[in-house]
Amino acid sequence: MKTIVLGAGIIGISTAWHLLSRGHEVVVIDRQSDAALETSFANAGQISVSYCEPWANREAPLKALKWMFDSQAPLLFRPQLDWQQWRWALQFLGQCNDKAFARNVQQIVALGAYSHSALKQMVAETGIQYHRLERGIAHFYSSAQAFDEAGEAVDIMRQHGVQRQLVSRDELLRIEPAFTPYRDQIFGGTFTPSDESGDARAFTQQLAALCAARGAQFLYGHDIVRFDHGSDEIHGVTVRPLRDDGPGPEQTLTADAYVVACGSYSAPLLRTVGVDLPIYPGKGYSATFRILKPDAAPFVSCIDDARKIAMSRFGDELRVAGTIELGGFDLSLDSPIARARCRMLSERIETILPGVCDTRSPEQGGNPQYWCGLRPATPTNIPFIGHTGVGKLWVNAGHGTLGWTHGAGSGKAMAALVCGERPDMQFGFLGQERDAAAWQQRPLEV
Ligand SMILES: Cc1cc2nc3c(=O)[nH]c(=O)nc-3n(C[C@H](O)[C@H](O)[C@H](O)COP(=O)(O)OP(=O)(O)OC[C@H]3O[C@@H](n4cnc5c(N)ncnc54)[C@H](O)[C@@H]3O)c2cc1C
Repeated sequence: MKTIVLGAGIIGISTAWHLLSRGHEVVVIDRQSDAALETSFANAGQISVSYCEPWANREAPLKALKWMFDSQAPLLFRPQLDWQQWRWALQFLGQCNDKAFARNVQQIVALGAYSHSALKQMVAETGIQYHRLERGIAHFYSSAQAFDEAGEAVDIMRQHGVQRQLVSRDELLRIEPAFTPYRDQIFGGTFTPSDESGDARAFTQQLAALCAARGAQFLYGHDIVRFDHGSDEIHGVTVRPLRDDGPGPEQTLTADAYVVACGSYSAPLLRTVGVDLPIYPGKGYSATFRILKPDAAPFVSCIDDARKIAMSRFGDELRVAGTIELGGFDLSLDSPIARARCRMLSERIETILPGVCDTRSPEQGGNPQYWCGLRPATPTNIPFIGHTGVGKLWVNAGHGTLGWTHGAGSGKAMAALVCGERPDMQFGFLGQERDAAAWQQRPLEV
């Protein structure tokens, strides 16, 4: 069977890998010159099976309203003249209640556990090196109120089989002593030893190379122009090479199955064939700093609750990332808001870990690597994995804040679905949402 995978981010490449494992002939198409050059390029690196609460909760609407005029706020809604944005926001509001929250957490945890086990298996099988650190994820709180509320989150996650622990300030500093200079501002934390971290780009690019070695054909530097379709089935996908002197001639490729894994761009592409999914870009930023004092830099991947930013160590660099901006497909790094958000990342690291990294701006002689990417966000935080209802057309997109965490498992599940199998997890695959609750899954190991 021949399958064309559209998109070479973590989701597309993982899908390709698992399809190859099942004996498929695979073609991967991407407009970039390599894998993982868009949203999978410089994320926070956390495999956060346990830190996976959806954005939509009962307090989110009020917080979002309060943050609308703060350029450094964790979540920023920037209203656009775009029906898709407003529709997405309304659907998001519909998820801001306790019942929806519990339902969404259950599915996200199920996919996370399945994915973590898939990742471990892939690493064991391939030996890919990607600055993996199996040191857990710690979350620290800088206010008494936030720490009290953390207890509630821990209880909810424990109900879903996640072993997240509430820890005192002293325990937190024993787990990660690097935060000792910031100790007076820390009220306490939570810790999940089973979570981990690593560089998503390094992993994805090496996996893509292994896919190529297994016979996958890669059409990099090719733009997906359109699907050729009849009334109920896809007949082909038309692509064209992107060259320095403009686009080259179009060609149409055919296959037995087509998997859309184009991140945030999946939604507009799928709409051209009548598949309307609420996936909207949630812009986030990261900064990668050179570590100046290796002994004083954290090894445990962390979340700073006050700013909702995550940090992970990749060898002699520290990656810090976070914030969400709902304002369309804008990828600029030089707008006033983008500059404010990047500055916030540098200032925050200097506050928490003074002198540990080179946080100087380029004007001051430093070399921080600032980056932004568009998280393919859904109102529930649950990705769309499954058949679209159009013949031969599948989707694996909408992984939002957790695409790296869910990448290995989403690819494995997609390959199983394309082969007509039901992956073993209590998850609402697209078109089979009602099956999720009835599915008897083996106990989670999170
Ligand atoms: C700041 C930030 C921090 C994050 N931190 C974490 C984290 O710590 N842990 C975690 O689990 N997740 C994290 N994420 C989320 C994670 O990075 C994403 O969910 C994931 O990268 C999405 O992968 P993807 O393959 O769906 O999309 P992408 O990586 O964007 O891949 C889609 C591909 O499709 C291609 N494409 C799109 N349209 C076309 C077209 N028309 N023609 C040809 N090619 C096309 C693109 O070139 C791209 O390569 C973070 C995201 C951000 C922005």
